Amino acid sequence: MVTCTGCALLCDDIEAIVEDNRIKETRNACRRGAARMKGCINRLQPSVSQKPADIESSIGKAAEILRNAKSPMLFGWNNSTCEAQTKGIQLAKKINAIIDDTSSYCQGLLIERILQKKFRTCSLEDIRNKADVLIYWGSDAQDSQPRHLSRFSYFPRGESRQRGYEEDRVAIAIDVRESNTAKICKGHFYRIPLKGDREFILALMEALSGKVPAYDTKNMLELASLLKKAEFGAIFVGIGLTYSIKDDLDILISLANMLPNFNIMPMVGHYNMRGFNETLFMETGFVNKVKFDEKAVHDNKYSIVEALKNKTTDAIIVVGSDPMSSLPRTVLHHLASIPVVCIDPCITMTSKIASVTIPSAASGVESGGTAVRMDGKVIVLSKIIENDYMTDEEILGRLMEAV
Ligand code: SF4
Repeated sequence: MVTCTGCALLCDDIEAIVEDNRIKETRNACRRGAARMKGCINRLQPSVSQKPADIESSIGKAAEILRNAKSPMLFGWNNSTCEAQTKGIQLAKKINAIIDDTSSYCQGLLIERILQKKFRTCSLEDIRNKADVLIYWGSDAQDSQPRHLSRFSYFPRGESRQRGYEEDRVAIAIDVRESNTAKICKGHFYRIPLKGDREFILALMEALSGKVPAYDTKNMLELASLLKKAEFGAIFVGIGLTYSIKDDLDILISLANMLPNFNIMPMVGHYNMRGFNETLFMETGFVNKVKFDEKAVHDNKYSIVEALKNKTTDAIIVVGSDPMSSLPRTVLHHLASIPVVCIDPCITMTSKIASVTIPSAASGVESGGTAVRMDGKVIVLSKIIENDYMTDEEILGRLMEAV
């Protein structure tokens, strides 16, 4: 059995059939995972100034860019192993760089609060074995973590839930649209207006405390009654909810405090975002947006979006991420105007504007290591295919030596 790195569920029950040193077929993986494990169609090649180069020249030029930068940034990390992330943090410390990842504009704050133990949380196995009430809030797991409901939450039998979804479990969706997950939660879908999560939480808290909320009164009282009866509940927090409540995590903490039988679980997308957050948290006490100087400093201005908007970084190393396709247009102009080093197995929008490209092994397929599942469990990744590509960790090690 091998592990799929298609999302932060890190399914470790995958069979991979290898022929001619290629993954020909997978069993148990969802469609997204199967595509991921077959690898990228357009493989990245080493280059300098968009011209083909050998790998040594690419690494040498990348090191030169880092040496010449006044305020370098290291970004990405969510598709790298924990071992590569640790090496990246060491490199950031060595060159006094800013380090950040995609969690700075999605679920970083939620994970930080979980690591600070502000929320009750549990493992996915606890959910499979015990959970009776499941809330998908701003999360379309069916699309983003396609085996979440079938492996862990709604459909499987569990130790205390032998009758599964037919009788033992209730799945609820709270969302702005009827997603594929909401369609499964038939009869328990609560549609809210765009950015209406805060108002919904306040009304639900009123209903839980025995008051009659003015907002959607009948549905709210029904929902509160269902939640109060839960023996072991889970709220799966998607980016729909975290984007909507922004920095006001306290309101979610207040709701969680009124639901003592519920656990909070971040619905992480990238396979090892949580790994990066935990590794940096252990090193600095923060999950992202850190600048190393004499000590580690955390500030919003060290998020990739702010650093590009304010033009406070003058060179960037991007590891396993594609900011050109995911960041707002307003900051892309500065990204395209500074030296970018792209370390990735595949050609991406970012590699197309990079000053230097360095191809790497695809983790979980061409290199092994460890990663942290969305619930915090460490999962081992296997090396399935043999080839000569360097791992992210090896490339970063070479940069450490060369700067
Ligand atoms: S649910 Fe995620 S980890 Fe599991 S097989 Fe699908 S993509 Fe891979």
